[in-house]
Amino acid sequence: MMLRIRRIYDDVLPLNQENLRQVKDILRSRFSEVAEDEIEAISEKLRNPFKQRFLSILFVAESIKGKVLGFAMLLHEPEIGFAYLDWIATATGRGGGGLGGALYERVRQEAVALKAKGLFFECLPDDEKNCPDKTILKENRSRLRFYEQYGARPIIHTGYEFPVKPEDNCMPHLVYDSLMEQKPLKRAFARKVVQAVLERKYADLCPAEYVNRVVKSFRDDPVQVREFRYVKPEAVVNSVSSRNFEQIALVVNDRHDIHHVRDRGYVESPVRVRSILTELDKSGLFTHIKPQPFPERHLLEVHATDFVRYLKRACNDVPEGKSLYPYVFPIRNKTRPPKEPSVLSGYYCIDTFTPINRNAFPAARRAVDCALTAAREVLNGRRLSYALIRPPGHHAEHRFFGGFCYFNNSAVAAQYLSHYGKVAILDIDYHHGNGQQDIFYRRSDVLTVSLHGHPSFAYPYFSGFGEELGEGEGEGFNLNLPLPEKIDGEGYHKALAKALNRIEAFNPSFLIVALGLDPAKGDPTGTWSLMAKDFRVNGEAIGSLGLPTVVVQEGGYRSRTLGKNALSFFNGLAEALRQWAHSRHEPKNQIHGLSFRQEAVPDDIERIEKLVEITGFFHADEVEVAKELIQERLLKGDTSGYYFLFAEHYGRLVAYTCYGPIPCTLSSYDLYWIAVHPDYQGRGVGRQLLQLTERKIKEAGGDRIYVDTSQRVQYASTRSFYERCGYILESLLVDFYGPGDGKTIYCKKLKKENREQSP
Ligand SMILES: [Zn+2]
Repeated sequence: MMLRIRRIYDDVLPLNQENLRQVKDILRSRFSEVAEDEIEAISEKLRNPFKQRFLSILFVAESIKGKVLGFAMLLHEPEIGFAYLDWIATATGRGGGGLGGALYERVRQEAVALKAKGLFFECLPDDEKNCPDKTILKENRSRLRFYEQYGARPIIHTGYEFPVKPEDNCMPHLVYDSLMEQKPLKRAFARKVVQAVLERKYADLCPAEYVNRVVKSFRDDPVQVREFRYVKPEAVVNSVSSRNFEQIALVVNDRHDIHHVRDRGYVESPVRVRSILTELDKSGLFTHIKPQPFPERHLLEVHATDFVRYLKRACNDVPEGKSLYPYVFPIRNKTRPPKEPSVLSGYYCIDTFTPINRNAFPAARRAVDCALTAAREVLNGRRLSYALIRPPGHHAEHRFFGGFCYFNNSAVAAQYLSHYGKVAILDIDYHHGNGQQDIFYRRSDVLTVSLHGHPSFAYPYFSGFGEELGEGEGEGFNLNLPLPEKIDGEGYHKALAKALNRIEAFNPSFLIVALGLDPAKGDPTGTWSLMAKDFRVNGEAIGSLGLPTVVVQEGGYRSRTLGKNALSFFNGLAEALRQWAHSRHEPKNQIHGLSFRQEAVPDDIERIEKLVEITGFFHADEVEVAKELIQERLLKGDTSGYYFLFAEHYGRLVAYTCYGPIPCTLSSYDLYWIAVHPDYQGRGVGRQLLQLTERKIKEAGGDRIYVDTSQRVQYASTRSFYERCGYILESLLVDFYGPGDGKTIYCKKLKKENREQSP
């Protein structure tokens, strides 16, 4: 049976969510006694891996089609230095076969990689005295036989099996697997392990004095394990495979060198890939993955069809060894493509130094497959992959090639991943990533960020300015950070921090790094002076985002230092990602960079309409009311009685409130409207906005805020939101909107401002 075992890091990717759902189903069907909240806690353990003061690591075994066949949850205690197998289960329940074995071996590998001094777990007893049920007894025996093959056996002569309550029977054994070789189990270590397991895992079940009694019952030193019962000691599997699953997937364009432009000064040459590869292969950090062919539609999702056809045909038409350089470009009339081949090349190109030749197309097409293969590795649960390819891609736009680039590899990979979650592209080449910018300029689901030499002195000269922010839906989703002609590692690092802040605020599911090595000192196309150690620092900073990351090779032309700089970058990146996975981190739904404003502008009419529609909460006539209120405000100002507060995230309207004084009352206000964009719900935006609205009302002299909503089930989350924000249900108007649909009125009394105490 074909299966793969992968580690699941989060419950964010749709793929992982689906896997988790299946894991929970297996738990429910296999362990009927496990409480539902314990099953649900698995998701939370992934979000906060140190939830139980253990690092939780989840592996799933899945078929090629993605069906979860089994899983294992491993807990790691880094201070005491042991691993504990919390769950191991297969969908069918038959664990002894290939599947259970594969999972157990994977768990052992991980425990060894974590430098655990032993792997522990519980197993129900296999003797009739403690397990009267014949069927269960048989299962328990087959389980303990299975573990014995690895030398793992129950600890004996201790009180681990003491009943917690007098009526408890069939208490589990604690089983010890010494992993590499048969090492004696030291008493002091075993006591710490048992204490940690009982206190942390069974906190609700085991009173402190019980824990104490069990710990003290470990008297032998070394602690004894049972004699072999099922397997001959000499048949024990002692080795643990050294294959490291945390290696970086490396996809090299195996056809890059067919594209070799021998013209003078053409720095984009095959030696670039070779010099990087030599260094990487020595490091042991990477595992080679063969590029897979992907259908052309992936390419056509980012490039115009006529452009792709043109490149294919034009390259094929050039005689072997010859290059065709564009030299005339359409400034005024783009509607009529010329016929003459050398002129036509200028119709699809942005400069005069990127030639059409016989092998450019097949090499570029293969580079695209490599980028897609690397993206798929990450989609499959790997944390880091690297497409080491040429020709590069980041100057290729929707309809243009140029800057040594033909197809935009990073953009194709981003587009592919965008079907599964939001994607950020971070371009750290010395030159502006005009290609991705062009391709995603009107989209808000792919964020494009580029750090580069200012266009006043650096290619591509006509783009890369700070004012290029994106358009329409994509406004605010392109960030250019043009940098001065001279910059060192430290200066670069500061700019990179800004880029990373923006990416963090965007909260993507995937990161694509368009890696240029041309910021390096001595690069013939750049002016900066980054050293190997600076590339490492950059890698660390990017890795600290903790995102599944695809690195795509772009520029970098000083072949003497390419390899060293690339390796430094990956050392930093991989190390930071590893640390991230093994540390406590904030849940990823925090919002940075929110801004608020009160002044309404004419554009708000359309933006409010869109926002209110997308929430899916309101009828068409209610949407009209929302528009009328803002029109009224724009027309009459304060006399309209309608006040607004807008919450924006990088220029995009994400939430707003509309409120105003209630006529004929002394100081009561109505909150007419609050709407939050679905992407921003559950992330504290509504609460922040409401608090700020309350402050504004208080400043205007208000002391009571009323808000009403429907009694229907759909509004339960709205009502509980108000309640959490301190609003109290004042009255219910039965059947107000319709039968069974009453109107609930909430009120919040604002506390009097105590000026002495306020800061
Ligand atoms: Zn470059």
